[in-house]
Amino acid sequence: MAVEARRIVFLGAPGSGKGTQAELLAAALGVPAVSTGDMLRQAVAAGTPLGSRVESILKAGELVDDATMGDVVRARLGQADAAAGFLLDGYPRTIAQADTLDSILEEAGVALDLVLQVRVPEKELVRRALDRRREDDTEEVIGNRLAVYEESTRPLIGLYRGRGLLRPVDGNQPVESVAATILATVEAGV
Ligand code: ADP
Repeated sequence: MAVEARRIVFLGAPGSGKGTQAELLAAALGVPAVSTGDMLRQAVAAGTPLGSRVESILKAGELVDDATMGDVVRARLGQADAAAGFLLDGYPRTIAQADTLDSILEEAGVALDLVLQVRVPEKELVRRALDRRREDDTEEVIGNRLAVYEESTRPLIGLYRGRGLLRPVDGNQPVESVAATILATVEAGV
């Protein structure tokens, strides 16, 4: 049997469905899905110091600074349940964050196995986002999040492609089909 990938990054624009797919794959592999968006929203809801620091940034669809995100992710990946593997949803989002992730993994003596890129046409992304209506989902903020993705996050695709880790997946399909494609990709090994 091929060695299953267990340290995986999900890349995809806001609304690509990567969060849903990360949850499904996490259940299939038995490793935690680490969603930085969820972690930040929980911090806001709980009124922690981190939450009050990031609240207005989330509302505007801007990025929280790389140093803060590095602390958040380092702490989360250091927890026991992430020792055997993890799926990262929403991190890294910038080249600097990818560098930080490299350091975190290197310190732990492990490496990324795969980067799954969930691809969805922009028109469909906007339609989905307007459907979803999260608190930070006004049309203006959606547009901003897409622009931030294009500028800051898209460069990661080239970075991971260059390392031979990138696996593009068609995300413009029913949830179950995308999940099946992803599972097959992961089971194909690294
Ligand atoms: P989406 O699925 O729409 O991309 P997320 O739930 O991943 O949204 O993230 C929501 C918000 O949380 C982002 O718009 C951003 O403000 C903040 N955030 C999440 N992850 C990061 C990160 N790695 N770096 C900076 N900001 C982040």
